[in-house]
Amino acid sequence: MMTRVKSVITSITGCAIFVATAGVLALMATAQNLPKDTLQDLPKPPAQPSDEAWTFINDLKAPLWGNGLGWSPRAVAAGEADLSRGIRVDAKFPDSEGLLKTAYTDLADFCTAGKIPTNGSFTIETVKAETQVFEAYRIEVTADRCRILAADTEGIRRGIFKVEDMMREVVGPFLKLGTMERKPFIKSRISRCFFGPIKRPPRYRDELMDKVDYYPDQYLNRLAHEGVNGLWLTIMFKDLCKTSVAPEYGETSERRLAKLRQTVEQCRRYGIRIYVFSIEPTAWDAQSPILKRHPELGGKRIGNTCTFCPWSEVSQRYLYESTHFIFSQVPHLGGMINISHGERRTNCQSIVPATSNGRSSCPVCAKKEPWEIIYKTLAPMAKGMHDANPDTTFIAWFYMPQDNPLGDWVYELPKHCPEHVTMQFNFESGVTKDVFGRGRRGADYWISTPGPSRRYERLASFGKNAGTPMSAKIQTGCSHEVATIPFVPAPGMLYRKFSAMRELGVSNVMLCWYFGNYPGIMNKAAGELSFEPFPATEEEFLSRLVQPEWGGAF
Ligand SMILES: [Zn+2]
Repeated sequence: MMTRVKSVITSITGCAIFVATAGVLALMATAQNLPKDTLQDLPKPPAQPSDEAWTFINDLKAPLWGNGLGWSPRAVAAGEADLSRGIRVDAKFPDSEGLLKTAYTDLADFCTAGKIPTNGSFTIETVKAETQVFEAYRIEVTADRCRILAADTEGIRRGIFKVEDMMREVVGPFLKLGTMERKPFIKSRISRCFFGPIKRPPRYRDELMDKVDYYPDQYLNRLAHEGVNGLWLTIMFKDLCKTSVAPEYGETSERRLAKLRQTVEQCRRYGIRIYVFSIEPTAWDAQSPILKRHPELGGKRIGNTCTFCPWSEVSQRYLYESTHFIFSQVPHLGGMINISHGERRTNCQSIVPATSNGRSSCPVCAKKEPWEIIYKTLAPMAKGMHDANPDTTFIAWFYMPQDNPLGDWVYELPKHCPEHVTMQFNFESGVTKDVFGRGRRGADYWISTPGPSRRYERLASFGKNAGTPMSAKIQTGCSHEVATIPFVPAPGMLYRKFSAMRELGVSNVMLCWYFGNYPGIMNKAAGELSFEPFPATEEEFLSRLVQPEWGGAF
């Protein structure tokens, strides 16, 4: 059976993506060869549906267990505890902030869906216990009791969801007797709201400026069950931060901060932390009054912009105060993901392409090593954040999607990482593959060619040797190969990605850009694959993944 499952799922990967890609290429080739007047005769594509027509949002808001569990009555089997006469929950785990309320409610909803009385005698007990890492848990099942043990609320949450999955696996109100332990090796699993607006062309919408709730409870509940523990959303220092260097910034700060705080607290109830995403420090407008007051903030003027030069005292103060402000103003943020090179003009190194071995033309930075310019920019940002809230992660994302080889300086970055910084690179950019007999190099991003690229392997190995925490940027549900669908069900390809991450010592994953984040089997696969014990083979993983979904049909 499993061989068949694997071959079906793998063939979905191998074919669907390439058929889709080949189809698009064929269409493009055909269109290019057509005379102009023929192109004008082609029917126009249908209009985009309005936001109000997005009925999938109602699907995401629907109760997770609303359709029942589809169990048929059966007798308890050998080696199982019997929960059919009902359970009682003994919530012993100390939870002064009530963070686990949503998880206990979900367990009650699950029992309702499975017709399990919640005033019975089988006890499900949550207990505080020592574990090795955050989110780790242990489950002990005996004939009359299931104990879920963890050191933190999020371990308990994962344990409760696992107990639900264990019942779904055996297709009834029963739990296999025995003990199991799990702990994550990927500590941050960061996705993004599927229908959150983008602060980019053509509409430049900012979710912190409207009153829409992009994080309804049952949507968050779905993400939490899939192992997502972080979501990112876009900010800019100019909109949000009040500092001594740029007091004119942050005009709408209060309104944005209020929505950000609300979002953070909403998601936190489901064990999901918010990470602010930015491309900072933004290069200065050449006419900026801030730059006029402090010319040392500027590096190289190009057209109407001037790069941010990090070497002055005032530059350092601006970077420190910006992140310190955000993380002081908004408690419980998870951290920051900052594109530190590769997209838009930022500091003086940003004008040197990732594929170049040239030097910055800023007169100050020209005398520095490229890694020093990056280091000098990141260090105060990470320190400002960390001083305001030590329980945060600063992810410096080097967005270098080029398929051409990178400059030598890039490989120096993981060897010189500032304190409190995790370095992130694209997992597959630079991958190679033979396609129809021709060698190809891939840019960003790929599910059909799971990576890692040789480039990522080298960067991660330098990071490992230097003790630099590493993150991988991947696409989880779908990629540019076919981005117009919720997800491509090819979890075997994620097994290959996470298996390589584990070997390379990668500890964080950014799961998506604006797409590829719809809840479903691919998110769930990424969540499962982030935990030890890691399945020994792809077959074993697929079996583990589909058992709760397929139950008796497996
Ligand atoms: Zn400079």
